[in-house]
Amino acid sequence: MAKKTTPENHCSFCGRRESETRLLLTGMNGFICDSCVEQASQIVAEHLGRSSAAHNRNSINHIPQPQEIKNYLDQYVIGQEDAKRVLSVAVYNHYKRLKYSAEHDDTNDVEIEKSNIIIVGETGTGKTLLARTIARMLDVPFCIADATTLTEAGYVGDDVENVLVRLLQAADYDVSAAERGIVFIDEIDKIARKGDNPSITRDVSGEGVQQALLKLLEGAVVNVPPNGGRKHPEQQMIQVNTRNILFIAGGAFDGIDRNIASRLKSNVIGYSGTRTRENLDRDNMLRYVLPMDLKHFGLIPELVGRFPRLTYLNPLDHDALRRILSEPKNALTKQYQALFKMDDVELVYDNAALDAIVDTAVAYKLGARGLRSIMENVMTDLMFDLPTLAKGSKVRITKKMVLDKINKSNINPSLK
Ligand code: ADP
Repeated sequence: MAKKTTPENHCSFCGRRESETRLLLTGMNGFICDSCVEQASQIVAEHLGRSSAAHNRNSINHIPQPQEIKNYLDQYVIGQEDAKRVLSVAVYNHYKRLKYSAEHDDTNDVEIEKSNIIIVGETGTGKTLLARTIARMLDVPFCIADATTLTEAGYVGDDVENVLVRLLQAADYDVSAAERGIVFIDEIDKIARKGDNPSITRDVSGEGVQQALLKLLEGAVVNVPPNGGRKHPEQQMIQVNTRNILFIAGGAFDGIDRNIASRLKSNVIGYSGTRTRENLDRDNMLRYVLPMDLKHFGLIPELVGRFPRLTYLNPLDHDALRRILSEPKNALTKQYQALFKMDDVELVYDNAALDAIVDTAVAYKLGARGLRSIMENVMTDLMFDLPTLAKGSKVRITKKMVLDKINKSNINPSLK
């Protein structure tokens, strides 16, 4: 092959010589090779895609009505009417605030303040389920943060700002979308200060964290370290304004019912006599929870003040557990039926069998989470044999089968 005498053209972007490319396009003042064209096209598509996704997130086309939100929650969460209503209204107002502040820049306009919420409820009664279910139907970024992992800045553990890292991740690092998001802070009761009085010694995981959280709740520009997932080489900190972020906190507040009971008792003795006392729902003291009870538990007044809405979850009784087992859209019984169906086997349950499962959960105080372990115990052997069952056959779960499995399992402590 004859050697070229003129210098070979090369790609002005990557520097490859023409002979190293499949195609070299000529421009006015330079050249571009086929692989740089491909890369450029990907970058353009990604950029346009991202900005249109951001646009979608930032424009609120449809504000879900409270009834619509509640109807959605009803499909997945049994009971808990009060909490569902409070959450539905809070989310509805959150959207309206966003729309209002987008349309009213004038500082003379009325400013609609956000209404953060605290949900008090025993463990396993649906706090996280409510939060997750709401997240599924929303088109604003949503994240769940665990208050137990937080410590005061400078101590081992997560800084409070890390709550926002999750939100940024959920928003795909689109800061303006994150600034309109919803954060669920789980186990808020675990950062209560120990005792009702301000502590003398340092309380790195209690009051200090509450003070730090205040800043987020109040609405401030917070420097967030973008650690986690994506790299932002040119940026050390991302600034997030929390003014429009809705915070929902949840906690079991173990023992708060005793506080409530004694508060109610002294009130009753104070003026209304026995009648009021008789009317109290003693099995569910949480329904009478007031902000003062949270303060008594160890949340600082400023923090309590930043959560203007306080709601509660009911304990799950036999009826509720029975419904949880079979009614929600993704109820456990339906999940197993779907698994069986994949092997072309029909699964049916006797009502007495389901009652026996619930009785066990109630007897051993296993709550809604325990329903799954009991079901697993009942179903494991059947599922082991499932692939060998004849296609088109039917399996019926009877009370006897349930009791046999439970008696053989270690759910029944007397057999341990
Ligand atoms: P927590 O209040 O501790 O956050 P979770 O929301 O995590 O409790 O509930 C644990 C599990 O129990 C859920 O995944 C769900 O399967 C079931 N569960 C609890 N409460 C309800 C409810 N009200 N309706 C339907 N399922 C529930």
